[in-house]
Amino acid sequence: MSVPHSKKKITILGVTGSIGQSAADVILSDPERFDVQVVTANTNAELLAAQAIKLGAKKAVIADESKYDLLKSKLDGSGVEIAAGEEALLEAASEPADLILAGIVGIAGLKPIMKAIEQGTCVAIANKEPLVAAGPLVMAAAKQHGTTLLPVDSEHNAIFQVFDFDRPEGIEKITLTASGGPFLKWSTDQMANATPEQAVAHPNWSMGRKISVDSATMMNKALEVIEAHYLFGVEPDRIEVLIHPQSVVHSMVEYKDGSILAQMGASDMRTPIANVLAWPERMETPGQRLNLTEINQLSFEQPDLEQFPALKMAYECLEQGLYACVALNAANEAAVDAFLTHNIGFLDTIGCVSHILGDITKTELNTIDDIISYDEDIRQKAYGFITGRHKKAVAVS
Ligand code: NAD
Ligand code: MG
Repeated sequence: MSVPHSKKKITILGVTGSIGQSAADVILSDPERFDVQVVTANTNAELLAAQAIKLGAKKAVIADESKYDLLKSKLDGSGVEIAAGEEALLEAASEPADLILAGIVGIAGLKPIMKAIEQGTCVAIANKEPLVAAGPLVMAAAKQHGTTLLPVDSEHNAIFQVFDFDRPEGIEKITLTASGGPFLKWSTDQMANATPEQAVAHPNWSMGRKISVDSATMMNKALEVIEAHYLFGVEPDRIEVLIHPQSVVHSMVEYKDGSILAQMGASDMRTPIANVLAWPERMETPGQRLNLTEINQLSFEQPDLEQFPALKMAYECLEQGLYACVALNAANEAAVDAFLTHNIGFLDTIGCVSHILGDITKTELNTIDDIISYDEDIRQKAYGFITGRHKKAVAVS
């Protein structure tokens, strides 16, 4: 007989995004298990209101204050409380909950994650950029406040499931798998002309636009190497990346005795999301299932660092220090945005990051405010590079 337990109180930051919507799907598949507290979004008031109603949320928060009236009209008479603005977003992260799902994209999620950690609320982190830019501070705060962090990123969730946290000394290395993205077989010339539409068409995963572009440049895997280093405390020389185009093995831990423990599953984020939402229990999910008999081949190969230089940058940044990781992330966010808005070409994204990394000097970053201000400086420099590229492209055309 199953023991009745009280509902788990969940807050979702970024409920209108790809991660947020997958989480909503998981929650709605087993509504008896969850009680949704606050849901947040950046600008899409209509979708936020619809998600809040569907999930029976207590409160909906929109970061963009100019969308307050629209949100209010959409939720009129629903009983859902509303709020808007950056402060309201931070408050959302500090309201009582059993688990906060961090599904915002980019460094914008850093302060809400820190707020949730300081509150002692378990945080399920999909939002990798704050870990890349502030990993040591995020991990130290979690330790200080006794807060549990659960990785949602499919590779990190895979490692989390097979990592022996009680005896980490038995671990030799961790292997992150990478699908290689939509341009795995493309030449550099072809990639130079890639459009945003081609870049976001991922062969195996359906995701938000920024992470889809990151997957196409392999910057996503670069960010994930840094993310894994901080989350699991494993040194960079013991973190390996292998191209695995089938996306069946989501990542692996190799032990000293030669055992390799891997987690497998369909390419469906609802599995890692269900894993963290139900943790430490297991729940059924509405997601796709892996049928092993339908898999003809599992292949693994070394990534081509000439074709995808982003990976090399991750290891170099970890070697240099935190400021370099902040710069990598900030320059990349600015460049991806410029690519998605047709202001620079596909290869200019990595060109921008490389240019910025070639131009930074060692900088002490001790607080979240230090990081946010350095991130802003780097973005300004990246905008300079982007404007230069854009002018050149316009002059040529
Ligand atoms: P998305 O673009 O689909 O959604 C982003 C969400 O963040 C939206 O709800 C948006 O309203 C909110 N948001 C954006 N900017 C904001 C701001 N300035 N302030 C407040 N809210 C803001 O992105 P996604 O694909 O769901 O990815 C979210 C995060 O999860 C990213 O860090 C990504 O790297 C990570 N992740 C995503 C996937 C995936 O399958 N989508 C897999 C692994 C990791
Ligand atoms: Mg991933």
